[in-house]
Amino acid sequence: MVVRMRRNRSQTAKRRSHHAISGVRVSTCSCGALRQPHHACPSCGKYRGRVVIDVVARAKRADNRTARKTKNLEASGKMKT
Ligand SMILES: [Zn+2]
Repeated sequence: MVVRMRRNRSQTAKRRSHHAISGVRVSTCSCGALRQPHHACPSCGKYRGRVVIDVVARAKRADNRTARKTKNLEASGKMKT
């Protein structure tokens, strides 16, 4: 018995010919860094001319996080120093 509505390889390939992922669109921020449209700038934290992300505080938090992680690793003796 043959499945009447079966899609063959050619039909599948034709459907998938439109599935390619295009590259990420970027625009230039007022600070000069590249940023995605409709996203806050990762380097200055601005969106539509207004600061929405405290970049300095975020960097400080990340530093603290990595310091804590390395400290914990050294304490557990899993990291060779
Ligand atoms: Zn910026």
